[in-house]
Amino acid sequence: MPFVTPGTLGEYDVIVVGSGAAGGQTAYTLAMEGARVLMLEAGRNYVPESETPMFHRPGMAPLRGTSTTDKPFGFYDATVDGGWQVPGEPYVNTADDDAGRFDWWRARMLGGRTNHWGRYSFRNGPYDFKPRSRDGLGFDWPITYEELAPYYDRVEMLIGVYGASDGLENTPDSPAGCLLPPPKPRVSDLLVAERAKRLGIPVVAGHRAVLTRALDHRALPSKLHPGNAYAQKILASHMQSRAACFWATPCGRGCSIRANYRSTTVHLPPALATGKLDILMNAMAREVTLGNDGRASGIAFVDKTSGETREARARTVCLGASACETVRILLNSKSARHPQGLANSSGKLGRYLMDTVGSTVFGQIPLLESLPPHNEDGASGGHRYAPWWLYKDQLAGKLGFARGYHIEFGGGRLMPSLTTLAGIEWVTNGSYGRKLKDDARRFYGSFMYFDGRGEMIPNEDSFCEIDPDVKDRFGIPVLRFHWKWSDHETRQAAHMQRTFGEVIAEMGGRVRGELTTDGAKAIVAGRLDHSRGGRRHHGDRSREFGDQSLGPGLGRQQSLHHGRCGVPFQCGQESDAHDHGARLADRRPRARADAPKGIMK
Ligand SMILES: Cc1cc2nc3c(=O)[nH]c(=O)nc-3n(C[C@H](O)[C@H](O)[C@H](O)COP(=O)(O)OP(=O)(O)OC[C@H]3O[C@@H](n4cnc5c(N)ncnc54)[C@H](O)[C@@H]3O)c2cc1C
Ligand code: SF4
Repeated sequence: MPFVTPGTLGEYDVIVVGSGAAGGQTAYTLAMEGARVLMLEAGRNYVPESETPMFHRPGMAPLRGTSTTDKPFGFYDATVDGGWQVPGEPYVNTADDDAGRFDWWRARMLGGRTNHWGRYSFRNGPYDFKPRSRDGLGFDWPITYEELAPYYDRVEMLIGVYGASDGLENTPDSPAGCLLPPPKPRVSDLLVAERAKRLGIPVVAGHRAVLTRALDHRALPSKLHPGNAYAQKILASHMQSRAACFWATPCGRGCSIRANYRSTTVHLPPALATGKLDILMNAMAREVTLGNDGRASGIAFVDKTSGETREARARTVCLGASACETVRILLNSKSARHPQGLANSSGKLGRYLMDTVGSTVFGQIPLLESLPPHNEDGASGGHRYAPWWLYKDQLAGKLGFARGYHIEFGGGRLMPSLTTLAGIEWVTNGSYGRKLKDDARRFYGSFMYFDGRGEMIPNEDSFCEIDPDVKDRFGIPVLRFHWKWSDHETRQAAHMQRTFGEVIAEMGGRVRGELTTDGAKAIVAGRLDHSRGGRRHHGDRSREFGDQSLGPGLGRQQSLHHGRCGVPFQCGQESDAHDHGARLADRRPRARADAPKGIMK
């Protein structure tokens, strides 16, 4: 019985809190390998096959689907409950200004943020695991790229990621058979690639979790679950239920044909098919409960349908409620033994919070004007991108900031939306009647955007903690955020602006508005929804697990590209246990010896 109620809970080996990328992958791995899993999800159920508005036209939506305070990404965005504000679930910022504010995006629905994420799926490179060793800043990870690479392989094979291996510095290649072929470049992609090359910027195939062809259901299951015929059979059947992309609809609405990755269409169906996974919706985890032996025994949660506090019990607990919410649950798990919250004897829980560094420039490219009508929708998002390319200059100290960014860009004749060509006057100087129609035909498809997505260095001033006064509607204390960019991030944002201006100029185009050379103004203020960090893990284990007792592996300080912080928390040990993954595997009943140990995502 996959969807359970608080009154029909069974007995479980593992509780997984959260159903997004972290919770989904964790529950999938455990259930496929035979563990009895209970997933607790604070949001409502969501059925992608019937609820995804893939084919709805703007006119079918209020205000023709445009973005509103309630739906900042437009009416059809796949996040049905959530956003920067969730009713009855506040959070606090210590500063009101853009520079000191952190905006926290939350999704309250089955699948979490995987419902509407951009589906860019990159690997970190070897340098990214040991940044302190290279530039003396931040912390090294306690693991290397080589150790994590086999798990990247598995995830790519399981969820389906298009891309190519280009042999570029610190941009890892994937072994043969992991990636799907990338979609064809759009006209604008070809132009950017040609002109950016003149500036020394490589433009290569993007990596996104979209099926450009059906997954190989004959070969992949045995690679993903060697020696486990039952799991292979379930996965083979599930892979056949996923169609290839038909290049027609916006991925941000989700994908009812299962062609792109979301937890609800990729991880949860096969996990449910094992009969080993139960899911309890509307269950707001409040704290990790401890047994008399001081070990975690389960989760106390608020049943949102009745308002009652209940408890679910299991031998092991994994928190995958997102970087910040996971920290919140641990900080709220106070007891006489853990007065500062669970896994927080160091006082570092919630520290070193990070977001992605971002900046955007728009431009108009005359070479793309008046192209013959053609369909460029493609795989919805970027077909090409530019990985960071200035490692050598940076190492030589020529840039004035540490760490890099990649460039996502787009343009072309995509399916028109309500705002397509809105504000066209900046290139036409105003027109109406016949001339307006001619201008619309001429300029449609000639506009482009360039987005930088860069690495933030963890700092002492960016963190979250429990607010002493404010509680949510369930009576659970909420988070209070402190935020500060360092010069490394603001200079990086200024570099993005200059670079994008140069690329647009090289394309013969013009920038919309002015380039923002003041990095503090150029940086997107804490709004990229990629929050990560909150739990420090670095290479010096004597510092990490000594008197600081950093505890279980939540929110790795140097996280994967967009910060996946739901690394499983092994609660069955002392609550400051650190080697969460190995212990999870050790203690997992009936777990297979070949199951991935440790990093679940
Ligand atoms: C607009 C946008 C675009 C993005 N694009 C990209 C991209 O292109 N590439 C990329 O790599 N990343 C991208 N990201 C970031 C990426 O989506 C996240 O890093 C990732 O999905 C986080 O996964 P998660 O499982 O840790 O958290 P979430 O997906 O946030 O899942 C957490 C789940 O836990 C539930 N939960 C929370 N609190 C509780 C509680 N107390 N009790 C029970 N359940 C709880 C939530 O309801 C939610 O379902 C994007 C994010 C956004 C918002
Ligand atoms: S573009 Fe492709 S993957 Fe994205 S929603 Fe449409 S069919 Fe699905």
